[in-house]
Amino acid sequence: VATGGLPGYGRSIAVTNAQAAEMDVPERVDTLRHLRLGDFIAENSEFTFDLEEFLLSYKLREHLATRMQAFAHCTDSASLASPARKAIAAGLAAGEFTRIPGYRSYRDHSRLEELPTISKEDLRSYGERYLHPDFTNEMIWLKPTTGSSGAPIRIWYSAEFYFELLVLALRKVLFRARRNIPGEHRLFCISISDNHNLPDSVFVDPTGATGLSVQIVVDGSKPETLNRVFRMMRRYSPVCVSSKPSLLEVMSEMWKEQEDARSIVHPIEMISSGSALLPDLRARLSNLMTGRVINAYAMTEFGLIASECEYGGLHIDSSSVFVEVLDEHGNEAAPDEPGEFVLSGCCNMAMPLLRYRTGDLGLLSTERCTCGSQTPRIERLDGRKIQCFRLASGALFPPTCFNDMFSAFPELAEFQVTQQDRKHFNVKVEFKEDRDATPEMLGRITRFFVNAIPEDAEVEVVNTHFSRDSKFERYRSNL
Ligand SMILES: [Zn+2]
Repeated sequence: VATGGLPGYGRSIAVTNAQAAEMDVPERVDTLRHLRLGDFIAENSEFTFDLEEFLLSYKLREHLATRMQAFAHCTDSASLASPARKAIAAGLAAGEFTRIPGYRSYRDHSRLEELPTISKEDLRSYGERYLHPDFTNEMIWLKPTTGSSGAPIRIWYSAEFYFELLVLALRKVLFRARRNIPGEHRLFCISISDNHNLPDSVFVDPTGATGLSVQIVVDGSKPETLNRVFRMMRRYSPVCVSSKPSLLEVMSEMWKEQEDARSIVHPIEMISSGSALLPDLRARLSNLMTGRVINAYAMTEFGLIASECEYGGLHIDSSSVFVEVLDEHGNEAAPDEPGEFVLSGCCNMAMPLLRYRTGDLGLLSTERCTCGSQTPRIERLDGRKIQCFRLASGALFPPTCFNDMFSAFPELAEFQVTQQDRKHFNVKVEFKEDRDATPEMLGRITRFFVNAIPEDAEVEVVNTHFSRDSKFERYRSNL
């Protein structure tokens, strides 16, 4: 969750003392209880710290504190009403959204549930129509989706939204799960990413609540790149580790051979998001650590959507998102009937998404949970399952390594990889409407796959046309 970057992220900026004074530099953020930034950088010089970004977040610290309070309030609330829905309804009544080209035809008095839905294809084709004109001259952050269903979509974040995800998402997850953040921790979180466009980076919580967090970029197809994670877990005893299931799977496999990991005695909470956390992986992770394994449901389009309470109820963050469940005709699904999750967010004013069809199917429960909260829970979620492939040598290979396909081949509309056996892969590709599947192109795609798989493998690439249904799985195995 905590990944991201400014356009041009990682570049350093030089400021004089006089400029720094004018920039409202905090005299002291309370990091005394935590590891100090300078000490961390001195020991880990390959990590970047973005001062400009920190100063921007520092200006928003009161907003962030208010947002955390709003979350805490609705987590404990016994009320069924959704604060996110209320905020959106107020925005509609004030005509806030009709200034956005994509929502121009919406009338001010519309009920949210009566508005048209928007699809991933709408955003892919005319995403800029959902940008708020007020943000034309503001700093906004581009966050492409990972492309785990269809080609990536460009999502733009306002500063408030970007820093809320960066600073608060994991605090919210721990708060919901009733896991205390110890006052004396050295490092709050290690986020593990395999997006090699991002740098290894460290950031400081501008509210002073959690101290330092780091993001480590690894290559899932080269397990040794995770060694640094184990080393850091031992050295800095982080409160939590956050990643996606495919990388947690590689980590759990390496655990036994890692002396650094075996010697960790303090609890580390493991937070999983990005695709479904399957029971088998959850059980394996639980056996490795004394901390808790916590599942969260997040999407680039909305940030954190839901996370587990201490009783395993996957509660919606209704301070940020409003969730509807629709049947195949676009009507509200009957209670106890599964349907498609349709989401509206109230926090990202740069690109507010109203009634966005996620393509994820599931069931919502509004019955009071054992934890006492009345916020809706996701009872069932038929989301994406992404498991690692097992190669001939026995090594694991996370298929998310192939997410680069869309940037390497922009003419691609969709693809599907099926592992036939440990050495044979079948790849189906579909091209965008105006593009042809030339033998030359298919040859290039074949070479891309052969090079991406770290062991000898045979890859067959064929051109196809996929039927568009929600059961589509990009990565499959016949093993
Ligand atoms: Zn609960």
